[in-house]
Amino acid sequence: MSARPEGVVKAADGVYFVGGAHVNWVILEEGDDLTLIDAGYPGDADAVEGSIRHIGHRPEDVRGVLVTHAHVDHIGSLPRFTARYGTPVYADAREVPHAAREYLEQVTPATILSHLWRPGVASWTLHVLRSGGTSREPVRALPFPDEGPLDLPGRPVPVPTYGHTSGHNCYHLPSAGAVVTGDTLCTGHAISRLTGPQPLPSLFHHDRDRMLAALDTVAGLDADLLLPGHGPLTRVPMAEAVAAARVNASRTW
Ligand SMILES: [Zn+2]
Repeated sequence: MSARPEGVVKAADGVYFVGGAHVNWVILEEGDDLTLIDAGYPGDADAVEGSIRHIGHRPEDVRGVLVTHAHVDHIGSLPRFTARYGTPVYADAREVPHAAREYLEQVTPATILSHLWRPGVASWTLHVLRSGGTSREPVRALPFPDEGPLDLPGRPVPVPTYGHTSGHNCYHLPSAGAVVTGDTLCTGHAISRLTGPQPLPSLFHHDRDRMLAALDTVAGLDADLLLPGHGPLTRVPMAEAVAAARVNASRTW
C-alpha cells in the first residue's frame, strides 16, 4: 500500500494526525523523538513508516508505541515495526493479554457476513481482507510503567475508557488540548452512514454499554481537538462531541 503522505495533517504543535485508508494513527513529536499512537492494519506497515519519514523523521526516532486497544486495525503493523526497530509497545495492563492474543475481543467473520447486505460493508470487508485483517499475530506490549503522564515524547496521559475492548484507553494531550480517542469516540467509518462524533456500529464493541458509560470520562477532558481512530480530525470541545455521540448512539445499528 502507498505511504499516503497526503493523509498526514499537522493537528497541533508536535501532533500529527495520519489518515490511513480505513484507520488513523497519531505521531507525537518532541525534538528529535517521537511517540506513535496506534499503527494501522498489517497492510498499513509501509504507510506507517512513510508517514514518519514524511514529517522528517526516521522510524528509529520512535521512543515508544502506545496502543489504544489491540484490534488488528490498530496494532496490525506492529509485529514488523517492532522486529525492525525494537521499539517498546505500551498498553493498559488489561489490554496486554489481548495484544498477546491470549484471547480475542474482536468481531467475528460470521458476524460481519451477517451484515454484508448493509451499504458499504462488502467493499469494507474486501479492504479488511486485503489489508491482512484476519491476522492474529501477537504483539508483546508492556503495561504503562507509571500512573499519569507517560515519560514519552508529547507526555500523553492514558485515560482508561473500557468497553470497546476490556482495556481500551484514550490518550489526553493536555498541552495540545487534544484527545486521541481510539474507537471509544469516532467521527466516521466506512460502514457508518452517520456524520460527526459517533460510536462505531455495535458489532465492533466488546461491551457497548460500558463503552457508552466511558464517554462520560471523555466528556470531562479539557480538550477541543478530537483525534479519532476512524473518521476525520474534528475541532470540537469534548463535552460537545460526547453529547453529539450520545444522540448518534440511538441511530447506530
Ligand atoms: Zn477497535
